[in-house]
Amino acid sequence: MGQEVKVQGLVLQTGNIGEYDKRVVLLTKERGRISAFARGAKKPTSSYAAACQPFTFGTFTLYEGKNSFNLMWSDIDYYFEKLKTDLDLIYYASYFCELASYLTRENNDEFEILKLLYQSLRALEKKTIPEDLIRYVYEIRILACYGLAMEAFACTNCGKMDDLIYFSSRRGGILCSECREKGEQVLTIGQSTLYTIQFILSSKITKLYTFKVSDEVLVQLKKITKSYMKEHVNYQFKSLEFLKLIG
Ligand SMILES: [Zn+2]
Repeated sequence: MGQEVKVQGLVLQTGNIGEYDKRVVLLTKERGRISAFARGAKKPTSSYAAACQPFTFGTFTLYEGKNSFNLMWSDIDYYFEKLKTDLDLIYYASYFCELASYLTRENNDEFEILKLLYQSLRALEKKTIPEDLIRYVYEIRILACYGLAMEAFACTNCGKMDDLIYFSSRRGGILCSECREKGEQVLTIGQSTLYTIQFILSSKITKLYTFKVSDEVLVQLKKITKSYMKEHVNYQFKSLEFLKLIG
């Protein structure tokens, strides 16, 4: 026999099943990332048609069967309506959800990632800081939540905490001026960029999107996150193809 469970979470992805039904992937506080079958969700009369849209945040009542969840009821807190009116923002938000989906698992404690994703979508919607900065902050912090934090406080080779001027994705973080090997591929990292990464790694999630950076820092953050993501995640995200088109 199955049972009824209530979860709080966000719709990461949706897919159609046949003519009337949908499958929704939810990132939840209680059960990690789960997928649920939503019978009749494509019918206009369905009581939860609106809940089965990406980026919807709320409480979902599910029936837990032997191998699957069935969506029964939803109580929506936030639809991210403003975000859905801007195509560029939809691309960013879709990528954030796809990355979260890729890194999370069922029955894992993914509450930090859920909080981070929620705040990041709110930041996109508010438009007070540039989308690409939100993206780099999100990438750096979600990898930290996942257990792949960049080392940004001490040299990855000798542990020294000053004179940190290089970044090596292969070594997992920063290097001091003395520890770079001859011919070793590294990126240079300026003081302001280093402070920015330290802030991203150590601040409260609710305070993450409260700063802006210079163009120079933005360019360094882009190079560093791109190289770090390639080294440690190395997965072709479908939603990134759209982002490449716009930026
Ligand atoms: Zn060193």
